[in-house]
Amino acid sequence: MASQFVPASEVNVLESPEDVLTTLGADGKRKWIYPTPSRGNYEKRRRILGWALIALFVALPIVHINGRPAVLLDVASREFTFFGFTFFPTDTFLLMIFGIALLTGIVLLTALWGRVWCGWACPQTVYLEFVYRPIERVIEGKEHVRKRRDAGPWNLDKIWRKALKMSIYVVISVALAHVFVSYFTSWGRLIHWMTGPPTEHWGVFVLMAGTAGLVLFNFAFFREQMCTITCPYARMQSVLMDEDSTIVSYDFNRGEPRGRGKERGELGDCVDCFACVRTCPTGIDIRDGLQMECVACTQCIDACDDIMDKVGKPRGLIRYTSENELEGIPSRKARPRTIVYVGLLLALSTIFTIAIAGRQAYDVNVGRATGAPFTELPDGTIANRLRFRVRNQTPEATSFSISVVEPTSAELRIVGTQPVELGSDQMKRLESWVVVPKTAFGGASQVTTTFILSFSDGVEQKVSFTLLGPSR
Ligand code: SF4
Ligand code: SF4
Repeated sequence: MASQFVPASEVNVLESPEDVLTTLGADGKRKWIYPTPSRGNYEKRRRILGWALIALFVALPIVHINGRPAVLLDVASREFTFFGFTFFPTDTFLLMIFGIALLTGIVLLTALWGRVWCGWACPQTVYLEFVYRPIERVIEGKEHVRKRRDAGPWNLDKIWRKALKMSIYVVISVALAHVFVSYFTSWGRLIHWMTGPPTEHWGVFVLMAGTAGLVLFNFAFFREQMCTITCPYARMQSVLMDEDSTIVSYDFNRGEPRGRGKERGELGDCVDCFACVRTCPTGIDIRDGLQMECVACTQCIDACDDIMDKVGKPRGLIRYTSENELEGIPSRKARPRTIVYVGLLLALSTIFTIAIAGRQAYDVNVGRATGAPFTELPDGTIANRLRFRVRNQTPEATSFSISVVEPTSAELRIVGTQPVELGSDQMKRLESWVVVPKTAFGGASQVTTTFILSFSDGVEQKVSFTLLGPSR
């Protein structure tokens, strides 16, 4: 529970005009903050959602839909899977539409509800507030105790508490690093690496250790600096939001002039207790208005509501509202920018759906193999070495055969046997030679050849390619 009245010196405020941030001095030195957790309605909802999201973040790369992980970002193969749908390297257009739609969704969300993502769903907030900070609190005690101990000498009490906390942090960070890496490689491959000796997978071992180190550094030390300094989204919020956006705000009309004491006279409802500042994970004072550092975590709402209950005033001195509402002007959800964003989202969704519907079940590609463009065989025929790449984009396994239909005198020699088995979402490359008599070129140095790929489900796909031969 946030305690009531604290002196201003007990909280992180900008101590000098040269200070860069409440957590960063003019000399660039970090000012460590000790935010007091606030219990309340918003905290309860955020905690439930936070744990649900943690379960989801862990489950997404493990749970399989249509035989593939729910989310897999296989950068090496340029294949990106989302909930049973896989974007292949040939789906650049689809991927682009999907990316723009995602971006538009984020922009719309910000225009309507500010940084709601940051405060409620961002992994940075969720893991820090519901995993790392609670562990710290259990081991090292409440904020004022931690602050006093941190300022004191390294005695046995401080050493064992810090050592225990860091040991637990290391274990959790290693686990999170594995979850993070599993988004970029299959879980099966990850298990294989994990169960094998590090000497067999030095590269992966170093990558995992580096990722775990970064996770540990972020959640143990860097913390709010990630939101206030590093994250580019924070810097864009002023252009993404407007006076109609619903954000966490202090009602200055009701709160000011702020002041302490029982004889309130002309004073507003703010009793200047600093509970909202002490609870802020980025160390800011919401009463100074909208600030880039505010991650919309709602902790100041809970802290202030608690104070309002205690002083017998209505809740909501800090609440979700818009700048316009604070000025007595009704807020509009539908306004030019949100209408444009919704229109764009609808258009993108339509284009995406049409493009998906027109997507072929099998992606077939034929190209020239490396080496000489053609070879003249002793019997006078011309051989071109080709490489077929066939991808099964359906959820069912299939098999296929390739035959050449044009020119009729052409002969296809596949390296390996036909038909070729192809699992769901699987891709195979086939080396082949196409041999044609010199007469097929009709005196030219090129001739078009056509192949037919016959799949076991009855689908036939035609693909053409230009064969090269000697010029006359
Ligand atoms: S806004 Fe609320 S929590 Fe903050 S100082 Fe005023 S009364 Fe205290
Ligand atoms: S000002 Fe309030 S909502 Fe914003 S980060 Fe601080 S506590 Fe969270």
